[in-house]
Amino acid sequence: MEINKHICFIADDVPELIDYLNANGIFYEPVSIGSTVLDILESSPHWNYISKIVEHKKLPYSSETFFTKEELNNAEWLRIRSKWRFGYPQPELTFIKDGTTYCYDNKCSECGSGEVQREPFKIKKVPKWGKRFFGELNWIGDELFVNDKAKEALLENGIKGISFMDVLSKNGKEVLPDIHQLVIPNTLDGGLMAGCRAISESQLCSKCRVTKYLSSGIGMLHFKKEVFENQPDIVKTGEIFGSMHYAAKLIIVRQKVYKMIVDNKMERGLVFSPIVLED
Ligand SMILES: [Zn+2]
Repeated sequence: MEINKHICFIADDVPELIDYLNANGIFYEPVSIGSTVLDILESSPHWNYISKIVEHKKLPYSSETFFTKEELNNAEWLRIRSKWRFGYPQPELTFIKDGTTYCYDNKCSECGSGEVQREPFKIKKVPKWGKRFFGELNWIGDELFVNDKAKEALLENGIKGISFMDVLSKNGKEVLPDIHQLVIPNTLDGGLMAGCRAISESQLCSKCRVTKYLSSGIGMLHFKKEVFENQPDIVKTGEIFGSMHYAAKLIIVRQKVYKMIVDNKMERGLVFSPIVLED
């Protein structure tokens, strides 16, 4: 695996960094007036020096891990998510307050956990799938949506632990064509090993006493092996992830599902991260 650091800074604030990048021919990119972005791998010989400046100047950055084909092919279970988001759940302006998709009766006002879906999602229009087959909605971190072809492939391959729900037009009156919510009812019974580098933070909510985790984007998440026993091919984590008022479970799939998606060339926009199983 390779771990990439995506660092944002104002060039004028860190002249020593700019000098170093220029002297070593390292590419960086001004993205808007005053704002510059640098992507660098942890394995780079320059990371040691640059990381000291990042730490000293407290420059904001995010981490992303790129896994090798071998790591992906060898994982029994993998986290799946979509980088491609095709819109917002409707009604966009009042979704949290007046939306009927979720029941918020048991939602914690502090950490955002506890909401339960009770109705199909409504969206403005059918996404332009292009060469994609899976996607996510903005704000909704733990639901995947698929088109007809992906639904067909999942069913043909006998993938277990899923069903499909219609997605409705904005006014809720029509069932939209060529889009389905992938419903994943099975939830793991915990099992997250929170000490790994892939978890940057865990916070116990003072109100509802639920612990919420923050992914660091570094390396693989570790889970107790036993929680995957007798599970179907697609599950959600029992643990909740997110920051502030955002809370979402992670979606985890069996190797069989990863292989099916790759073999059918349906992986565009999707990101897979292997899970480490511990005895
Ligand atoms: Zn809470």
